[in-house]
Amino acid sequence: MAQIRRSPGVESRATSNTPPSVQAQYSAGNDTARAALLRMRRIMLRTVTEPCGCRWACRCPKPLTVNQIDAWFKAAAYLLDQGVVPQLPVEVLRALWLRGGSDRELAGELYAATWAVVT
Ligand SMILES: [Zn+2]
Repeated sequence: MAQIRRSPGVESRATSNTPPSVQAQYSAGNDTARAALLRMRRIMLRTVTEPCGCRWACRCPKPLTVNQIDAWFKAAAYLLDQGVVPQLPVEVLRALWLRGGSDRELAGELYAATWAVVT
């Protein structure tokens, strides 16, 4: 651990009745922060890394399931029937496009209806 440099005479001026100087408090705070960082580093070294590189829990985006794509299709078709143009996420549009058939037609229609503004 690095040695903390203090100006000379800081400890000699402090008595039991006087509070610690600002510099002493700052140094003590640095010690606490450094100890916390070392604790976090030890914890991080103990954790298992996922194959994708995520620690703790994987937060990588998962591919859409068939049921999810079906649900997006039905919801978008229903909203279009009601006269509302839904703005689907780009990964949903991409999945619909890749399935082909009526899904691809709907994806193209939504893409054009939203003026190619995708989120
Ligand atoms: Zn991950």
